[in-house]
Amino acid sequence: MIRYPRAILVTVNPMTPSSVQLSAEGYQLPQYSFSPPPELSDAAVPRHALIIVGGGLAGLTLACDLAQRGIHAVLLDEDDTVGVRGASSRGIVYAQRTLEIFAGLGIYSRIQDKGVTWSVGRTFDGDDEVYSFNRGAGNASRQAAFINIQQFYIEAFLVERISALGVTDLRWRNRVTRMVSHEDHVELWVDTPAGSYRTEAQWLVDATGANSALRDSMGLDTHASRSPDRWCITDVRFNKQFPSERWTWIRAPFNDDRAVWQHLMADEVWRVDFQMGPDADPEYVSKPEVAAERLRAYLGQDLEFEFVWIGPYQYRDHLLDEFLVGRVFFIGDSAHVVSPFGARGGNSGVQDAANLGWKLSLVLKGQAPQALLESYQTERHAAAVENLKVASTTARFLASLSPIEQLFRDAVLGLAREHPFARGMVNTGRMSVGNAYPSSPLAPTGAWALPNVEITLASGERGGVLDLLQGGFVAIVFADSVPPALSHAQLTAYACGSSPLTGIGDPQGQLSKAARAGEGDMILLRPDGYCAGRWRRGDTAGLMATLDAYFGEGMTR
Ligand SMILES: Cc1cc2nc3c(=O)[nH]c(=O)nc-3n(C[C@H](O)[C@H](O)[C@H](O)COP(=O)(O)OP(=O)(O)OC[C@H]3O[C@@H](n4cnc5c(N)ncnc54)[C@H](O)[C@@H]3O)c2cc1C
Repeated sequence: MIRYPRAILVTVNPMTPSSVQLSAEGYQLPQYSFSPPPELSDAAVPRHALIIVGGGLAGLTLACDLAQRGIHAVLLDEDDTVGVRGASSRGIVYAQRTLEIFAGLGIYSRIQDKGVTWSVGRTFDGDDEVYSFNRGAGNASRQAAFINIQQFYIEAFLVERISALGVTDLRWRNRVTRMVSHEDHVELWVDTPAGSYRTEAQWLVDATGANSALRDSMGLDTHASRSPDRWCITDVRFNKQFPSERWTWIRAPFNDDRAVWQHLMADEVWRVDFQMGPDADPEYVSKPEVAAERLRAYLGQDLEFEFVWIGPYQYRDHLLDEFLVGRVFFIGDSAHVVSPFGARGGNSGVQDAANLGWKLSLVLKGQAPQALLESYQTERHAAAVENLKVASTTARFLASLSPIEQLFRDAVLGLAREHPFARGMVNTGRMSVGNAYPSSPLAPTGAWALPNVEITLASGERGGVLDLLQGGFVAIVFADSVPPALSHAQLTAYACGSSPLTGIGDPQGQLSKAARAGEGDMILLRPDGYCAGRWRRGDTAGLMATLDAYFGEGMTR
């Protein structure tokens, strides 16, 4: 259980969790118990099929995904709780694709119940609104456009779900101190409160976050860069009412014409994030009295409030060249870090896990060739490149790096006040999406994320199209040869493997629209909800060739 205390104040630099400056009663996070691992008493060194190091957002999502597929993994985390000890939440915004993944993992309703659902974003320059979006209008998915919730709640829900599934060996207070990668396995040295041990894995996933020592021990270049732009987060509860919308100011009159973001998250905590001047002193700007002054300048002198967290930060980014090196996968922040604009950090770590989980499962079960794992690199590296580009473009709009960029931005803002055409160029964050994947031998026309549109199941009940997956591939045929009772747009779905042919309905035509499929077309949905291709009526050979590419000819399906 996470309990919200009455008054808490924690000041921390979230980018370097070791530099905690002041810590009082914070959120009371769950404490998971340590059990001595078998390696401490057995003389023989076991070789596990899969070890995940790091129980943050990415590592826990992967463990949960694999557990649902019946794959046993050992998950090692140096801590015994979720979140960053002594700090409030890092991530708060979770976007639709991520929420669809969480729905598949069985924790969406908990996130929805606890978090704040929203779909409208507004951008202001001074007092004028210069850009807005509404992702709720025309939302095709059964999941919300966005939910704001403190990251540690999601992590705690994942831990509970993993524990309930009972497949994963969750090892808290197990700190990996050394790793050696061999041709066919990885060797690990682990410290625990009951002593140290050595263990081995056929495959290892490094989910240890931005400062991964495992990654660094392999001598891999992350191409890191740090922005001079400085911000100060204020997580606060106050007595003012605002709609549950994302508001951003590019030049806020109450912040010396610098940027500000405002978001609501669970427990009625607002995150108000202030852009600071280039010479701002992190210690000074995070003093409660200085933060209070900033808040009052915005919300008035009569403001009643309690701080939850004040955290100055500078952002950085990095990107590994390879997300699979030998027997080691890199997921989440260990592989890539982007500036926070657009919430593409944690969301993309979750998507890394969803991309890797089913592939590892098929390979470990001997149902697909090892080559399938290489597609993790092709697909998720391309996604990370795109995320980095998109987030960096926003960062440069908010903190121009040159006089030309500044000139461009000011011209856009001037035009956007008067002319709708210029509003699309206003950029305070392009929110996380399910990135399209490039063409590859697996999916010659690329793969794209299908939203979880509502369909009618053969039973007559409503469901989401992604619910059909049940861990496997699904071929959907947009055919008119199924009973007319369903609807005018008739479908048959074939779950590859043992499931029978099933009739489903698309009463509003949402599925055919989302799949861009015409009468008689076929699509192949992968276990991660991505469309692996679309074929014209009757081209079953094309569809089967794609399935062969994933599974390898002659493999068991
Ligand atoms: C201010 C801020 C705001 C953000 N806002 C958002 C947002 O709104 N939305 C969003 O999607 N993202 C956001 N992010 C990014 C998001 O927080 C990260 O991308 C996310 O936490 C990365 O998850 P991860 O699992 O890769 O790594 P982490 O969450 O860092 O987890 C790493 C885990 O590895 C463990 N570990 C580390 N070393 C070892 C070791 N040697 N042995 C064993 N265990 C180890 C740690 O204990 C930890 O549990 C934000 C980040 C910041 C800083």
